[in-house]
Amino acid sequence: MVTDCLFCKIAANEIPAELVYETERTLAFRDVNPQAPTHVLVITKAHHADAAALAEADEGLADEVVKTAHAVAVREGTAESGYRLVFNTGPAAGQTVPHVHCHVLGGRDLGWPPG
Ligand code: AMP
Repeated sequence: MVTDCLFCKIAANEIPAELVYETERTLAFRDVNPQAPTHVLVITKAHHADAAALAEADEGLADEVVKTAHAVAVREGTAESGYRLVFNTGPAAGQTVPHVHCHVLGGRDLGWPPG
């Protein structure tokens, strides 16, 4: 755990969040500032800074994050109509929390390209 990391604190239950799904190594909770009817963040319980670090992480962890994201979409009822997974990675992408998180967005027509 990184002590000053917001999402590490959520994973450690030190900061409240609305949890929606959990696996051994991942956690899914609602975004506080939702951009769609379904807006859930999937994080790794262990600290990894971003998608680049996730790609270098333990065997199967990136796979587990994507599987958790899909399980969230199924539970939220957006799997059939469609959903979007987003990993903002680095400053140009607007990443504001330096702990890897996958946005699961759905429940409306999301459009493309994003704004
Ligand atoms: P990003 O800009 O990709 O780094 O996304 C960070 C996301 O975390 C934003 O969509 C925020 O609304 C969300 N966020 C920040 N603090 C919290 C929190 N305490 N609980 C849930 N979501 C949060």
